Amino acid sequence: MSARIIDGKAIAEAVDQEVARHVQQLVETYGAPPCLCVVLVGDDPASQVYVRNKGRRTQAAGMISREIKLPATISQSELEGHVKALSADPVVDGILVQLPLPAGLDSDAVIACIDPAKDVDGLTEVSAGRLVLGRPGLRPCTPTGCVILAKRSLGDLKGAHVVVVGRSILVGKPAGLLFLAEDCTVTLAHSRTRDLAAVCRSADILVPAVGRPEIIKGAWVKQGATVIDVGINRVNNPTKGQGATRLVGDVAYDEALEIAGAITPVPGGVGPMTIACLLQNTVQAACTRRGWTIG
Ligand code: NDP
Repeated sequence: MSARIIDGKAIAEAVDQEVARHVQQLVETYGAPPCLCVVLVGDDPASQVYVRNKGRRTQAAGMISREIKLPATISQSELEGHVKALSADPVVDGILVQLPLPAGLDSDAVIACIDPAKDVDGLTEVSAGRLVLGRPGLRPCTPTGCVILAKRSLGDLKGAHVVVVGRSILVGKPAGLLFLAEDCTVTLAHSRTRDLAAVCRSADILVPAVGRPEIIKGAWVKQGATVIDVGINRVNNPTKGQGATRLVGDVAYDEALEIAGAITPVPGGVGPMTIACLLQNTVQAACTRRGWTIG
């Protein structure tokens, strides 16, 4: 039987609409919407597309969207100066520095300049510490999106065995901690994991975040498992002509479709959830900073 498709686009739209309702309430009660500022350094085309989408969806939710575009030639200290100025600006509720930064710039040092109260990407040491300690805080957007998709698909996640493949700071590690907070039993697999196929086959919920096209084969998926595919990989698409490309996930989708119980497509799965969670985080940051409450 074919797996149920988890429609990340539709779920993200529902989250966006809820954010828009909350923003409207905040404007009615406090007279001002939250403000998100995205810092884009250099002219990487993929980053430009992401930033444009973020700006569009921030505005559509009724929030103020600011963009600071800086040249790839900017010095480390100048860039840190911009981020520190945003941290000190009382109007700005959320700061996101679009990663990766151009070569030669130290992203860790730049992230350290973000006021943790405005860390809507959940990447500062304070945010990471709060996540590990189980204290309230701003959580990284993509892994938060993964948990929302799993919950919408399965309901209660208690006791489920989650295998996250990948242990990056951005996705794998926080995904593991967020599923743990849902009372899942979590395994973090990585490039040194022995018999990755067997580890994946033990998963009730499989979350590949590797960045290798279709590395997870259908036979690695347990019958009826839920697959949340984080990977976004651009590959050649010769059927559409020379030079054409298409996006695929880390999972061999057509194979997994026949075995999984539910699966996210790529594109249209985890991707749209990342911005939805960013918008949620911006509202959360504004409320916490300003002492606002949503009725
Ligand atoms: P990283 O490159 O930072 O991390 C990749 C992880 O995969 C590492 O932990 C690495 O292990 C592990 N890995 C690499 N090769 C293997 C292998 N052969 N077997 C098992 N594990 C392996 O990537 P990110 O976490 O930043 O991103 C992962 C994917 O998610 C990418 O495709 C990226 O494009 C996508 N992504 C999607 C987002 C979205 O919005 N949907 C947002 C962010 C990322 P080790 O630590 O041992 O090297």
